[in-house]
Amino acid sequence: MSKQRARDTKPEKELRSLLHARGLRYRVDYSPIPQSRRRADVVFTRARVAVLVHGCFWHSCPVHSTKPKANAQWWKEKLERNVERDHETRQALADQEWTVLEFWEHEDPQTAADVVEHIVRAAGRQEMPQT
Ligand SMILES: [Zn+2]
Repeated sequence: MSKQRARDTKPEKELRSLLHARGLRYRVDYSPIPQSRRRADVVFTRARVAVLVHGCFWHSCPVHSTKPKANAQWWKEKLERNVERDHETRQALADQEWTVLEFWEHEDPQTAADVVEHIVRAAGRQEMPQT
């Protein structure tokens, strides 16, 4: 069983430092929608891009999802709730016209950083005055 916490996980920190090195600035563990307490791990407010980094165990990654044998029912419900909450967060952000980017902790952080950088910079350009 992992002692991994819900925030400041290693893959999350890795992605953040890669993004920072690329000159991107963002908010960490921030609630993008004022009327919702749902948080995203990395948030670009101007570009309206929210990044979620999911731990494979806690968010039931399709590749690495494991089911603890002890207290099986309790874990089942807990993990299902996490997945459900992810879905709600995704939906709430999409409703407010946010772009939601989601990554698994097993994904290559460089590749994830490429995707985030590309989307954030593209969104930034759209916001530039046309003059
Ligand atoms: Zn995984």
